[in-house]
Amino acid sequence: MAAFLEERFNDKMNLKGDLRMSVLQEKVISILEKKIKLIQSEGKALYLVGPIQLPMSLDGATVTFQWYCWLQCKEVTEDFERIVEKLTSINLAEMQQSSVLVYGDFLNHEEALIRMHSICHTGDIFGSKRCDCGFQLEQSLKMIVNHGTGALFYLANHEGRGIGLFSKAMAYVLQENGYDTVEANLKLGFADDARNYGDAIQVLKSLRTKPVTLITNNPKKLDALKNSGMDVSERVPLWGNVSEYNEKYLQTKIERSGHLEAAGTCPND
Ligand SMILES: [Zn+2]
Repeated sequence: MAAFLEERFNDKMNLKGDLRMSVLQEKVISILEKKIKLIQSEGKALYLVGPIQLPMSLDGATVTFQWYCWLQCKEVTEDFERIVEKLTSINLAEMQQSSVLVYGDFLNHEEALIRMHSICHTGDIFGSKRCDCGFQLEQSLKMIVNHGTGALFYLANHEGRGIGLFSKAMAYVLQENGYDTVEANLKLGFADDARNYGDAIQVLKSLRTKPVTLITNNPKKLDALKNSGMDVSERVPLWGNVSEYNEKYLQTKIERSGHLEAAGTCPND
């Protein structure tokens, strides 16, 4: 009898526990739901989470950006609880996710600056001088803040122009042995530039419908974005910083990748 009572008591407590868990879970979901947006395109889904306040150190001051991150998924659903449940079963740390830093009144302002920044582990994180990505990243953020509004898309699947970090290391080995950036990628069997902007443009369109001005020296990038349906009204160049380590890299961009050369400076990206 005592064992039976004990069992009933435990059942009751478990039920209470389950109930409390589900109330907690509901609360978590209701918080997250307000910050998740489903963006649908061509049978796939992008789940955009944000905005999240991100105070950042920029040029000696603290500037607050609105940060959003997105995840591409085959499953299209507005049942965000399902998406939250899935997170622990997919090892997201093994893959990179892209994100965007938004500044100012991005939705309404007539003129917004956009930078599509390709991830560069060596340049952005280590401050490598083999390229000028780290410099460009900071410079674009400064331009956006000085302008008043804009967005910097940090594209995580663009490492080494879309060949990935390991292959970029291989390409660097070839470059140390006399090949230029374009040749090195081609010798490894890659296209010179394998970058795709589709998802970033979908995200951009969900954040702003008015035209944008693109920060780039790369006319191909401008074309790629126009062709994929982005309303680009203008292009503004980005001044690079030339050093003895990246001079050849920058010159290759001009000679081989059709980058526009500005008087007295070197173009990049
Ligand atoms: Zn770089």
